Amino acid sequence: MNIILLGPPGAGKGTQARKLVDERNMVQLSTGDMLRAARTSGTEMGKMVAAVMDRGDLVTDEIVIGLIREQLVAAQSGGDIIGNGFIFDGFPRTLAQADALGALLDELGAGLDCVIEMQVDDDALVDRITARATCKDCGEVYNDNTKPIPADGKCSNCGSSQIERRADDNEESLRTRLMAYYKQTSPLVGYYYAKGDLKSVDGLASMDEVAGSIAKALG
Ligand code: ADP
Ligand code: ZN
Repeated sequence: MNIILLGPPGAGKGTQARKLVDERNMVQLSTGDMLRAARTSGTEMGKMVAAVMDRGDLVTDEIVIGLIREQLVAAQSGGDIIGNGFIFDGFPRTLAQADALGALLDELGAGLDCVIEMQVDDDALVDRITARATCKDCGEVYNDNTKPIPADGKCSNCGSSQIERRADDNEESLRTRLMAYYKQTSPLVGYYYAKGDLKSVDGLASMDEVAGSIAKALG
């Protein structure tokens, strides 16, 4: 089963994707994580996208479609390690990316089963994101209000002491990301609704309740 998690920054896509990976043995494809990895490893592409990401704007379609194509082709030629399908997290973010994903899946003889829209109101997003921190090593997400970083500063999941705030998790960049979401990504809600693939869940509920609604939507 291949699914998309769609929603504004801070809607909880990454958190829910990680749960699906653990519980259903699916493969998470997060373009945000891929771009951050490219920055950390200092590739040319990583250097090119750094300023765009920190500002909160979208990286070009060409770059992210290229990243996704690489991952899908690698997973397919890996054959046995595809698991139970892909979770697209943070991709597609534009109509061009949505068309490209459809074409790529066609090429691979795969389909798209479901698009989960995570609905959250904008005030909640600002609160969530400015309180957010992430473990650099395992991706565990912390929140100053709901899940504070352990007192010893070590990740409760993997023990790493590298718990960091993202450079783009500040109020100014978040405003730009929200604008990008409403201008460029939110049309995908209508796009997938018209295709008959859309299911919406309340992203403001507790983490476990959201996971429950997603499980129900996936059937
Ligand atoms: P969030 O959903 O919290 O905003 P992500 O980790 O998904 O964060 O993305 C971080 C940044 O990476 C985005 O603000 C954007 O600059 C870039 N990015 C990620 N995915 C895409 C995409 N599909 N298209 C264009 N830019 C992207
Ligand atoms: Zn960790």
